[in-house]
Amino acid sequence: MSPATPLPSLPSRPPWRLRARLLTPLAAGGTRYETDALVTVDAAGRLAAVASWPAGGMMEPVIDLRPLVLLPGMVDLHIHLPQVPAAGIGAGLDLLTWLERHIFERERRFRAPVAEQQVPEVLRAMAAAGTTSFLAYGAVWADSTDAAFRAAEAHGIRAAIGAVMMDRRSYDDETPPGERMDRALTDAETLIARWDGADDGRLRYAVTPRFAVSCTAELLRDSAALAARTGVLWQTHVSEDAGEMEAVRDLFPEARDYLDVYDRAGALGPRTILAHAIHCSEREVDRLVESGTRTAHCPVSNLFISSGVMPLVDRLEAGAITGLGSDVAGSPELSVFAQMRTGFYAANARRVALGDPRPAPDPLTFLRLGTYEGARALGQDALTGSIEPGREADLIAVDPRLTLPPGGEDTDDPLQLMGRLIFRERPGMVRAAWVRGRLLPSTEEAS
Ligand SMILES: [Zn+2]
Repeated sequence: MSPATPLPSLPSRPPWRLRARLLTPLAAGGTRYETDALVTVDAAGRLAAVASWPAGGMMEPVIDLRPLVLLPGMVDLHIHLPQVPAAGIGAGLDLLTWLERHIFERERRFRAPVAEQQVPEVLRAMAAAGTTSFLAYGAVWADSTDAAFRAAEAHGIRAAIGAVMMDRRSYDDETPPGERMDRALTDAETLIARWDGADDGRLRYAVTPRFAVSCTAELLRDSAALAARTGVLWQTHVSEDAGEMEAVRDLFPEARDYLDVYDRAGALGPRTILAHAIHCSEREVDRLVESGTRTAHCPVSNLFISSGVMPLVDRLEAGAITGLGSDVAGSPELSVFAQMRTGFYAANARRVALGDPRPAPDPLTFLRLGTYEGARALGQDALTGSIEPGREADLIAVDPRLTLPPGGEDTDDPLQLMGRLIFRERPGMVRAAWVRGRLLPSTEEAS
């Protein structure tokens, strides 16, 4: 079968059974690789069995996808839905200049009619890149956040979304400054009631103050209280960029460091995901770990905008719970494979530049970060993030033949196989993505 060979027709709704290769991190640690696996999904979209192909074969016909490889669906832990059309614009700027020049006006225009047109296309592109679950920021507007949820509901992807809260330095041209905090909180409460837990937990709400530069201490505190009272996720940015950090020092002189601004608001804990966390002190890292606060590592964005290189090896050694985020449009690329690739290059460059003898994380570690650890950051690791019996069937089928170099041969070494998928990612290599065993609509545009 050459790469151009049409695939057998893919199952679109559960129940189904597939024969394929399989590579997955395991919840208990380590990795499972099968050269010939049988995966059975029950009518509820759960993985009923994940087994080696039986020695005696099967009586019933089974769709055979070999040499395609099943992986868990990728988890994008940080993306801005209104910003996607700006992807690739503004390389090398500092964060605050980039936001003012390229982003805020686009977010201001992101109202329901724009979202209704834009978000379905974004979701299809995410599925084509292998993403089955994401945590996203909307704009400040409830109407477009509502439209984004409707699009995710219809598409089938697993989504956590929040309207951005900003009660200072906002692009909101509609709400008087003195009313922005109350409006943001009221809107969030309405959207939580409507969407959090919808479709049996597939859709979730995330209370989303943009960052400390855009939020008063009161808004941070009240937003954290709202998330605690309703049990939803809370997300924001921390320690991304030097100019941002300086602004936060000026705005919150009482805080001992950036993380302390959120700590004082009562916002740290296992339902909180902080994007970037690049320039954290030892004290801040200890506090992240101690509080169980999650972080989203966004290496492509950190190098596209001039933010820095997060010390990934140190963070993993410290025990910080960290997944991968695209941070589009901070990153030009939607694909989580691209975050793995640049994450490795960044970690390796840091190692060489600093003379650090510890190796950069290997491809199987990046697979774990982009799948299981992302699910864990979202508190959904009992449901998704690995291909193990009892979990929901959120998985993708990847064609490694497309990643072969000229004259190259396929490999059954899981480390090298995953390395090829990361370092020689090609558009179209993700041939299918399922959530709960349902095939997601996707575009050909992969990354
Ligand atoms: Zn961001």
